[in-house]
Amino acid sequence: SREAAPAGRSAALRARMEERLLGARFRYINQQLYTSTSREAARLFQSDPEAFEIYHRGFAQQVERWPENPVHRIIRYLRRRPASLVVADFGCGDCKIASSVKNKVHSFDLVPLSPLVTVCDMAKVPLAAESVDVAVFCLALMGTNLQEILEEANRVLKQGGILMVAEVASRFEDIRAFVNSMAQLGFKSVSK
Ligand code: SAH
Repeated sequence: SREAAPAGRSAALRARMEERLLGARFRYINQQLYTSTSREAARLFQSDPEAFEIYHRGFAQQVERWPENPVHRIIRYLRRRPASLVVADFGCGDCKIASSVKNKVHSFDLVPLSPLVTVCDMAKVPLAAESVDVAVFCLALMGTNLQEILEEANRVLKQGGILMVAEVASRFEDIRAFVNSMAQLGFKSVSK
């Protein structure tokens, strides 16, 4: 009919505008997560559950456009190693790791996107000291209290355990400085 064309066009325009608004809200929340402490991030998502939903939709959309999702690399790495290794996934999102490997995986996030999630601030996880073999931060090293968060990972890792960090390159001002501070926190760089 004659009305169909304009109606279709305005619906498409509306969808495009909504997508753009969503993208802007995602970037805003992402920025907030990177510039506040993990406790403030917890408060943000508690006070505004919609923010978490928008953040995760935006995150998934962004990662889809990348040539490689680092979480898949981490999964491949774990599959090559003994399934007896215990894993802690800090900022697990939708628990891709826990649902893809045979290992025991403790999955931590601020909000449960999956029933596998233990809800907590990653600066304080409910695990005993020296209880895990591998600690993972996949696109999740977010709070400004990084040191506290990494000390928590150090606490739960066994001696000689592995810490895996995946971040976008633009997040690092100086990779060498990062590796040096990691060494001060007790982590020796074995592969980069
Ligand atoms: N690791 C997942 C998700 C990355 S998105 C993946 O690679 O697919 C970053 C995740 O970190 C989000 O789910 C966010 O909720 C979580 N996060 C951010 N700050 C956190 C905190 N203080 N404690 C626990 N999780 C946190």
